[in-house]
Amino acid sequence: MDLIDKNIKKVNSNPLLRVFTQSELISLEGEPGNFKAVIKVKAKNKKMIRKNFNIGAIVLATGCQNFFPEEKYRIELSSQVITISKLEKLLNCKEDLKSINTVCFINGIVNDDQRLKGDKLLLQALGLINKYQIQVYILCKNVYVAENGLEELYQQAREKGIVFLKYEDKKPEILLGKEDKKIKVLFIDELLVKDNVHYKEGEIIIPCDLLVLEEEIIPASGADKLSEMLQINCDDEGFYQQRNISLQPIFTNRKGIYTVGSCGGLKNINRTLDDCAMVSLEVYDLLKEKVIKYNLDRAVVDNDKCTLCLTCLRTCPHKAIQLENDAEPNQIKIAVNPLACESCGICVSCCPASAISLPGYENEQVTSEIAD
Ligand code: SF4
Ligand code: SF4
Repeated sequence: MDLIDKNIKKVNSNPLLRVFTQSELISLEGEPGNFKAVIKVKAKNKKMIRKNFNIGAIVLATGCQNFFPEEKYRIELSSQVITISKLEKLLNCKEDLKSINTVCFINGIVNDDQRLKGDKLLLQALGLINKYQIQVYILCKNVYVAENGLEELYQQAREKGIVFLKYEDKKPEILLGKEDKKIKVLFIDELLVKDNVHYKEGEIIIPCDLLVLEEEIIPASGADKLSEMLQINCDDEGFYQQRNISLQPIFTNRKGIYTVGSCGGLKNINRTLDDCAMVSLEVYDLLKEKVIKYNLDRAVVDNDKCTLCLTCLRTCPHKAIQLENDAEPNQIKIAVNPLACESCGICVSCCPASAISLPGYENEQVTSEIAD
């Protein structure tokens, strides 16, 4: 927290940065290097006023939020049943958890993919065991360490004595002891079912003083409205869609608009810092010469052939096609913004009137490339 406060002060006192809090983007037009934004900001007299800004590039860092899906666990949160975020807060506030002897984490009930989402669970489990030397169990379907540093944390957890227990199709049941009011977790260990020597049908019951549950990670509130306004694509879960999750994690479908951190899906602090470094370089590269250069192979519209069916406007993934007012009064025409166009050729292959072309290519060549 100290680190965050220190950095907020640093940003607020930098004369090159202007910070608007409690502000809202009202509209955005234009192209990379020359976006025109209208933002509702709080004036000194605390009234909300509209301000116009010319913006070179936009970086979205709206993050994500945690949501506790009560219906999936069928249990209410209490002092004995908490979420991982709550445990993180307790540990950060130096709350005394000395009276606790056994803690059980359950992972994998919220989503079907069963991954250890981020490093939060392992960090909190290690935080507990390092500080209080208590017994920690982690129930999960699969330990899938698909993120930098997760495997190392997993090894550390094993070495420190954290016990990982695997359940399969049957989800663990959370029981509340009638007399002692203690939480118990019942699950089936499939390995014991196969070698049924000591346990009844592989059933194991873990009594615990504290049960820590995984939360659902969802996009920040208002992310959907912002994506609509900026015409940014979102994935199935509502996070801003990254152009290529491994190779181009900061790029959106619109040139000049980037994402950092968990607004594009859950990321740990290291990946967020990598995004920040990448975005800084990208924005610098885009704006450094104060002139935006583009290749001449951008899509071109023949307005004499265009029937204004608007298919291209709807299909362009980079939102490079706009309706423009023609010189003649009350006449509109289709126009391609060459700064936003990525020469993908999709509009060429979709146009029913063959009114769009990519210079240097026959329309048939573009269509057959896309079909392949
Ligand atoms: S798809 Fe072709 S005909 Fe339809 S609006 Fe676009 S350029 Fe015009
Ligand atoms: S070539 Fe691709 S990016 Fe360019 S206008 Fe057509 S669909 Fe949009």
